[in-house]
Amino acid sequence: MNSMETQQNKYDVNSLSDMLPEDFRKYGYRLVDWITNYLKDAESYPVLSRIKPGEVKEKIPSSPPFNPESFEEILKDFDKIIVPGITHWNHPGFMAYFNSTASSPGILAELLISALNLNGMLWKTSPSSTELEQVTLNWFRQMLSLPENFWGIIYDTASVSSMHAIAAARENANIQTREKGLAGRNDIGRLRLYCSEQAHSSIDKAALTLGIGLEGIRKIPVDKEFKMIPQKLSEAISEDRKNGWLPFCTVATVGTTSTTSVDPVKEIAGTCSREKIWLHVDAAHAGVTALLPEMRNIFNGIERADSLVVNPHKWMFVPIDLSVLFTKHPGILKRAFSLSAEYLKTELDSEVENYMDYGIQLGRRFRSLKLWFVIRYFGVEGIQNILREHLRLGKLFAGWIDEHPNFERMAPTPFSTVCFRANPGNTNEKTLDDLNEKLMNKVNETGKLFITHTKLNGKFVIRLVVSGIRTKEIHVRNAWELIQKTYQQIK
Ligand SMILES: *Cc1c(COP(=O)(O)O)cnc(C)c1O
Repeated sequence: MNSMETQQNKYDVNSLSDMLPEDFRKYGYRLVDWITNYLKDAESYPVLSRIKPGEVKEKIPSSPPFNPESFEEILKDFDKIIVPGITHWNHPGFMAYFNSTASSPGILAELLISALNLNGMLWKTSPSSTELEQVTLNWFRQMLSLPENFWGIIYDTASVSSMHAIAAARENANIQTREKGLAGRNDIGRLRLYCSEQAHSSIDKAALTLGIGLEGIRKIPVDKEFKMIPQKLSEAISEDRKNGWLPFCTVATVGTTSTTSVDPVKEIAGTCSREKIWLHVDAAHAGVTALLPEMRNIFNGIERADSLVVNPHKWMFVPIDLSVLFTKHPGILKRAFSLSAEYLKTELDSEVENYMDYGIQLGRRFRSLKLWFVIRYFGVEGIQNILREHLRLGKLFAGWIDEHPNFERMAPTPFSTVCFRANPGNTNEKTLDDLNEKLMNKVNETGKLFITHTKLNGKFVIRLVVSGIRTKEIHVRNAWELIQKTYQQIK
């Protein structure tokens, strides 16, 4: 590109306007082309970014440009500086954590969401946003075979959904936290929240945020399959009541983060309703598998839960972020959060739902649009077929681990997350931990596969998760080949 052209493409600071429409069109097409190639060739990138800490920052000036820069230059630097520092969640070899992959209809919806740039705080501030959220969440509720009295709302992440559920549980305890807060009170016992030892750290964070504190969480032991032991929950609640605590909420997990174990929701619900405490179910990752008739049993007893979180942005291919909280008690959630500032009152408040009343944030993105695009584009059947294939591939991989004399599975595989380790036998746990950590790191260095680990009963365990929309049988086969080959090199 010659300098004349570059010059022409620069923003005219005297125009006091946005980018010219013809430039938007030109760069818009360029970016769509870029995205098309990126998604098509996602595999050609190293899945895990290879850069060192500070490397991205080093390449970017530490003060902002005073003069406009051409869009060409910005795009060039995006390729040169930003892309190498990307870990590719869209890569078919991304089998770490719980994946979230962006499907194409979801990506295109995001383009419209940012173009419309509406703020759906009130029905009036864009009726389509509120009404599409109501409709798509009613669809999603039916897709998961949840009862009709489950009302839904979209938040950004499961952490925030669970925080709101626990705030509603606190409101439900009827201790006037709205007015009095929690600090310095001797008219009530200290609040106690229950979850299993395997619950996600977002529950701890909710307790930090809501003034419950880490001491206010009691972690209930799990059985050999990493599921909460309901008997232990009942015992803990009774003991706490005797000691002056105020039990107010239990969080059960369907698909825990380490092993995807499923807490016995039905039994836990029995205890919670006897004890009159709120039951929140965290099914952020695995909940979407209830789309499959053969998996519906994961939600046995769900009709007795007070709230439930499922993330379409994880295993339903909606670009991050989109988390759904369902609750049977929207009125309680609203009581916990609604405040009507004069400047937000409208003449329609008695007729319509204003989602700002159900949470800490006022402004809200038009997230339901991407859920609508994704559900319509794939159809329920299309999504079911992909989920079913992922479950099959997870079990296929688990079978290979079971058959191999030098590998072992470390937890059941109820979904498509496989917990395993290499174990050549006749060595101690410390050596095994080191060996498996080395195996994982060596595999990740190849850039072909990204897997992560957890600790189970103190042991280092590798996790492999099949849940990316671009992950096919060949990728799972290649992953297994690579793991075996790497093991041979380092054992
Ligand atoms: C992923 C996950 C979370 C956290 O999800 P965010 O949307 O990233 O906040 C919480 N709980 C479970 C069980 C999860 O799998």
